[in-house]
Amino acid sequence: MSGERAARLAELVAESGLDGLLVGDLVRPGDSGPDAIANVRWLTGFSGTSGLALVGSDERLFFTDFRYVERAAREVDSGFERVRIEHQLVPETAARLRGRVGFDDAQTSVKSLERLREAAPEGVELVPAGGLVERLRRAKDEGEVEAMATAARIADEVYEWLRDRGFEGRTEAEVALAAEVRMRELGAAGASFPPIVAAAENSAVPHHEASDRVIGPGELLLIDMGAKVDGYCSDCTRTFAVGEVSEEEREAYRLVLEAQEAALRAVGSGVGGREADAVARDLLSEAGFGERFGHGLGHGVGLEIHEVPRLGRRSDDILAPGDAVTIEPGVYLPGRFGIRIEDLVIVGADGDVRNLSGFTKALLTVD
Ligand code: ZN
Ligand code: ZN
Repeated sequence: MSGERAARLAELVAESGLDGLLVGDLVRPGDSGPDAIANVRWLTGFSGTSGLALVGSDERLFFTDFRYVERAAREVDSGFERVRIEHQLVPETAARLRGRVGFDDAQTSVKSLERLREAAPEGVELVPAGGLVERLRRAKDEGEVEAMATAARIADEVYEWLRDRGFEGRTEAEVALAAEVRMRELGAAGASFPPIVAAAENSAVPHHEASDRVIGPGELLLIDMGAKVDGYCSDCTRTFAVGEVSEEEREAYRLVLEAQEAALRAVGSGVGGREADAVARDLLSEAGFGERFGHGLGHGVGLEIHEVPRLGRRSDDILAPGDAVTIEPGVYLPGRFGIRIEDLVIVGADGDVRNLSGFTKALLTVD
């Protein structure tokens, strides 16, 4: 990338009236989950957990401690000057600040802001400026799309593999673990989030955690999972029939699929997140399931599993070329069953949309 991303960010920083922007997780540097460092990774290429970047009009600094110096030398964009921190990342970074410096208020605690303030030189003004990197991260370039396409292909293969092995008699947790292991065997770094495997009444809980419940015959089984490749996530949900399911369940499945395909046809550059959501929601409402679709139509995906833009009732986002978003309507009947079908798509120019999820959406009956 050699500085191209940093140059675009520097422009945004200047437009925001800032002398510099501090990028990274100030709350728990060195101890944060991989998602908290997505901005640093996108900007610099650094995939470790302990790193901060400072970007200004004529400054590109990358700070990391001694444990990551070699990794930084390998990974960090050559446009950045690498600074080795001897003891504590936040205070030693703060000493290099000057002027009006933006920080990510969404990823900064009051306590870490205080530490930053105390260590910053006299005259430094710290300004909340979250979301700038996220704005740039939104449009995916070719390399990012390819990583996500590979991650999606791996998830497709895992679905095929799971189907061939069958579900009946296994626990949700066994299936979830097997899926995760299989992803790694197929070349993924891991799962993009702990797979959701939810049978019968558990599938009515949109974010159910895989449990020791045994999957039985005559039940719907909802699986929501994705793989991670080069830091990029995929996200895909399929709902299976384990043995024979009721006509009511089949009918509900047909409706969700119809809503999902209608929304897929509707999305494209220039379409609003609210508008796209309404296509699926209106269809489900007409069939009497409006109240049963209790979440938004979809969300952006990238280095993190949930990113901008959002597609939902309250979304003001407008889809643009390069957006990677999920289309995932569902219906949930508490205590009984739930159905969700989710694809991951890339929005292109001129209304063109590329669906990265390839596994069949026909209701498969699996033993
Ligand atoms: Zn999902
Ligand atoms: Zn999703």
